[in-house]
Amino acid sequence: MVKTERNNVIVRDGDVRIKDFAEVSEGFTYELMKAEAERCINCKNAPCTKGCPVGVKIPQFIKCLQEDDLDGAVRAIKIDNNLPSICGRVCPQEKQCEELCVRKLKLGGSVAIGGLERYVGDYALAKNEKAVPSTIKLDYKVAVVGSGPAGLTCAADCTMAGLDVTIYEAFHKAGGVLTYGIPEFRLPKDEIVKKEIAKLEEIGVKIVYNTVIGKTIRMEDLLEDFDAVFIGTGAGLPVFMNIPGENLNGVYSANEFLTRVNLMKAYLPDSDTPVFCGNSVAVCGAGNVAMDAARTAKRLGAEHVFVVYRRGRDEMPARAEEIEHAIEEGIELKLLTNPTEVLGDTHVTGMKCVEMELGAPDASGRCRPVVKADSEFVLDVDQVIMSIGTRPNPLLVNEYSALEINKWGTLVVNEETQETSVDNVFAGGDAVTGAATVILAMGAGKQAGATIIARAIAKCSK
Ligand code: FAD
Ligand code: SF4
Repeated sequence: MVKTERNNVIVRDGDVRIKDFAEVSEGFTYELMKAEAERCINCKNAPCTKGCPVGVKIPQFIKCLQEDDLDGAVRAIKIDNNLPSICGRVCPQEKQCEELCVRKLKLGGSVAIGGLERYVGDYALAKNEKAVPSTIKLDYKVAVVGSGPAGLTCAADCTMAGLDVTIYEAFHKAGGVLTYGIPEFRLPKDEIVKKEIAKLEEIGVKIVYNTVIGKTIRMEDLLEDFDAVFIGTGAGLPVFMNIPGENLNGVYSANEFLTRVNLMKAYLPDSDTPVFCGNSVAVCGAGNVAMDAARTAKRLGAEHVFVVYRRGRDEMPARAEEIEHAIEEGIELKLLTNPTEVLGDTHVTGMKCVEMELGAPDASGRCRPVVKADSEFVLDVDQVIMSIGTRPNPLLVNEYSALEINKWGTLVVNEETQETSVDNVFAGGDAVTGAATVILAMGAGKQAGATIIARAIAKCSK
């Protein structure tokens, strides 16, 4: 096999892109897509597919690209993944399919599978062919709670199998974190998310908005009207540090900050619901959510944005690409630093921190950060965004206590069927795993969908 260097998607310059919310990555041109597809050697044992949580047949779709059969590529992906434009943009491919690509180490770098998937997904959206609903109809009703990637995937698979599916969504828009969390500059809403969801509606998925299951409709009432229920309510409840001053004006959870900007479009000059953005902003945490919050604050006009993290660069949980993009955009990393108090009278005027150093590994195998003696200092900030994690919202479980949860508040399910402690009630995505990834949520939605479809066929063939 000949070594050929990987082609990467085109990315706009950091100093240009921080002036707007347009997409950072412009994807592949046709020529780059062809050159990159040609690097794939269509391995018979498809190691890359083994790294994909939904098992996309990667060599098959890339072979179609090599043969200029874009429609074939769309069909090959969509058997396993209904949201290729989204996954091509946000999946951590470097830790999944691309991690296992035979080209990774010595042959010029893994094939850019994510970039190719995005190209195919965008081609399908641009072509805008009407999606064909299933001709099979089974007398089996499914309610899906939550319209994030888990719920959308379960709903799509069940609908295509002929089941009658209704999604109930708390917000006025569908998509879950795809719509309210991941910023426009990484995942365009009208151009991509809305269009992907419209395709699902074309196949017959019904979506009921502004409906909180557990408040607007009780779980028990839902179970009377439907044969099966899938819970994909995510993990949207923010965790705070519990340090003094966290209740001051100017302290946000990353979820609230990003929801106001993404869902409520606070970045538009004529927004009815603008959001406060400081001149000097501290974002506490170092995952993808923290990177998104920091990069959003920069785009809203903050002069200084600090990512404050108690461990080092190697331990940052965010995707390497997101960290690099954040640095290119002028985000300042305050590593080995831990906040101890938010300062201010009514509004934030600073954040007290201590310096840390890495000690011996803890139970998770990661080096435990320990406080350096006499290292206290004040970071000059007027806004603090907490981004240290999220948990499932307990609302549904509080209203319907038959659902078993574990000590972290996530729903307990049978790993093979995704069924909860209640018969015919299934769950998947962040509500089960805690905050994870889009593709893992989709995988769980698929698995639950397969069980629900099998139950429907069994019931309807009696
Ligand atoms: P969610 O996407 O959270 O959707 C749950 C939906 O349920 C929401 O729409 C919510 O309104 C609704 N809901 C909740 N309770 C109720 C109720 N009682 N009744 C009705 N509706 C309800 N993952 C990646 O793979 N790549 C990334 O780059 C990435 N970046 C991220 C950036 C941010 C800012 C965040 C917050 C997450 C990111 N993730 C990323 C994680 C990923 O988005 C989640 O793992 C994924 O969205 C989980 O999907 P889900 O369907 O389980 O839940
Ligand atoms: Fe192509 Fe890499 Fe998958 Fe082999 S492992 S089929 S080269 S993408």
